[in-house]
Amino acid sequence: GGGRDPAYLEGLNPEQRRAVETVDGPVLVLAGAGTGKTRVLTTRIAHIIATGRAAPHQILAVTFTNKAAREMRHRISALVGGTVEGMGWLGTFHSIGTKILRRNAELVGLKSDFTILDTDDQLRLMKQIIQAENLDEKRWPARQLAALIDTWKNRGLTPDKVPASEGRGFANGRGQELYAAYQDRLKVLNAVDFGDLLVEPIRLFRTHPDVLADYQRRFRYMLVDEYQDTNVAQYLWLRLLAQSNPNICCVGDDDQSIYGWRGAEVDNILRFEHDFPGAAVIRLERNYRSTAPILAAASHLIAHNEGRLGKTLFTDRRDPEAALVTVASSWDSNEEARAIGDEIESLQRKGHKLDEIAILMRASFQMREFEDRFVTLGLPYRVVGGPRFYERMEIRDALAYFRATVQPADDLAFERIVNTPKRGLGEATIKLCHDTARARRIPLMAAAADLIDTEEIKPKARATLRDLLGAFAHWRADLDTRPHHELAETILDESGYTEMWRQDRSADAPGRLENLKELIRSMQDFESMTSFLEHVSLVMDAESDANQDAVTLMTLHGAKGLEFDTVFLPGWEEGLFPHQRSLDEGGRAGLEEERRLAYVGLTRARKRAYVWFASNRRVHGMWQTSVPSRFLDELPEDHVNVRESGGAGGYGGYGASRFDRSDSFGSRYTTPGWERARERTRDASGGPRPMSAPAARLRSGGATIEGELVAKSVVDGG
Ligand code: ATP
Ligand code: MG
Repeated sequence: GGGRDPAYLEGLNPEQRRAVETVDGPVLVLAGAGTGKTRVLTTRIAHIIATGRAAPHQILAVTFTNKAAREMRHRISALVGGTVEGMGWLGTFHSIGTKILRRNAELVGLKSDFTILDTDDQLRLMKQIIQAENLDEKRWPARQLAALIDTWKNRGLTPDKVPASEGRGFANGRGQELYAAYQDRLKVLNAVDFGDLLVEPIRLFRTHPDVLADYQRRFRYMLVDEYQDTNVAQYLWLRLLAQSNPNICCVGDDDQSIYGWRGAEVDNILRFEHDFPGAAVIRLERNYRSTAPILAAASHLIAHNEGRLGKTLFTDRRDPEAALVTVASSWDSNEEARAIGDEIESLQRKGHKLDEIAILMRASFQMREFEDRFVTLGLPYRVVGGPRFYERMEIRDALAYFRATVQPADDLAFERIVNTPKRGLGEATIKLCHDTARARRIPLMAAAADLIDTEEIKPKARATLRDLLGAFAHWRADLDTRPHHELAETILDESGYTEMWRQDRSADAPGRLENLKELIRSMQDFESMTSFLEHVSLVMDAESDANQDAVTLMTLHGAKGLEFDTVFLPGWEEGLFPHQRSLDEGGRAGLEEERRLAYVGLTRARKRAYVWFASNRRVHGMWQTSVPSRFLDELPEDHVNVRESGGAGGYGGYGASRFDRSDSFGSRYTTPGWERARERTRDASGGPRPMSAPAARLRSGGATIEGELVAKSVVDGG
């Protein structure tokens, strides 16, 4: 040595520095949130380039999202000083897999211009295969097959490798056969699905050792961020590439493994040490991100998990001004959104940038309340990592049903749902409706009504169309007589739309059902279906531009790896967080994954963390007492500031114990899933009567009512 250290190494602590400089051989960096794992990876790449060990195109670097890849690219350039060109292999597993496949398509029976199917195409294809096999589609829905094939692909299993016992659950033991048929069909179409972007490169490497050797030589250094969330297929893929020349560095945190439900395996961390004997395992223990109270809260919480590899975390930030973690409650989620909106406006008045504020939620349906509120306030926000609430597929579908009910001339709405769920109305029928509508200059629905009395459409389609038009007529007639939110629910039930998602076995289906329930629930705040639809178009219209200073709204799952000065964590209630579904399906493991999600949430915050819960939720027009999340009890008292709730005069649900979890029905509330909550309302004859919405508002204080009226008039007047 002797010479001065390059600038990019300055400021690293000794362990970080070791992780950066141990470039040869396998390295595993196992460390808690905010300890600089991603920074180490980035610096390591800069180091490899700066010392001439490899050219940028010889480095394979895997990030969890495309956004993270862009950021990393940016930072490497900054570290090296100048733009780094040619980091062509920096991206997600899927983007890198795509690139490998395009280069070697012929070897796996594809052409290099293959298409990547979206979920819809994928389902259509599976459905064709199920039909071709003369299977009952109702009994064996395409979505279920899709989910099954997906789990196999996550485990790197091609059809021939699926254990015989595993296909039994589907179509009397024909799952595996259908998987093979599906893959054959994809080849004919020169197409791949998302899972193939992982599995096909593995197959390529296994069947063409020369190609594998070529990539092994090319990738002199390999780096993987968020390693704890890789699945088996991704692991196999890495291991194949790292076999001959294992300059591989994986960084991760077992406490942040939050994609188990999508096939991620924390065990990959243990496998790494086994498969790469002699791997340097480096632990980083100093957290640079968060203040002491935030770190204490997160560490204390995660200590309740049993299945941990064990790590320590410390900070030597001595910041006497550091804010404690705030725990606050509101009467309901509506007030929660209002209170958080107020808090954000007050931060903004004190000079904080909105870009540095995030609201991280457990479920996407929670977003609705915040979006509505922020539009009312004119507070700029952006939804990151997914569509905005009203732009979600299931919400757009539902809205199309409502629009077509209210406005029979709304062709776009009618067209959207005429065959959703699938009713067997083919393209020919729909085209005929279109032609007729255009020729006679009448709306689509009117054209359809004319056509069902003619012989132009096949009898079966005619009957289906007649039923559908009849249903719309019937719903429309109810518009003036039934409460619109009840009618909305009926529409989604009778049309088969809700059922379609209930039958769906894919991982996102339950979330979509929750979103639909939230949609119906939110309709109660409006006078009529029409005023609700007007409100929606208003919110949809409030497009904030990308460069504007704005609050970030996202799910906890999407927030991994990110950091913000201020983080709001709403909805810490039993059943929502921890989520009932995880508890029901995953038991103890499910609970621990939820707790890791809470840990991820808290550790996103640099300076301020606010945990919130609503004391009540409205389910099907009834008020339900909700129970504060058990995770609140797991926060260390010394580092938490419990804020008495505002206008509600301590109606926050805090009882004798810090967070009282006995509910008004006198029993421990353990299963507040929406369905159960609904059942409970029905047979809760002994308990106190659920409050009506106005009564609830009254109890939450005058100021709130005024706030509500102001909010409403702004929305209605717009
Ligand atoms: P997560 O587990 O949440 O992904 P991480 O371990 O990847 O966290 P980073 O995001 O790399 O952590 O770092 C957290 C913050 O700490 C970043 O703002 C980073 O710039 C800063 N940081 C990391 N190391 C140092 C250091 N040695 N000196 C100063 N700041 C640092
Ligand atoms: Mg990171």
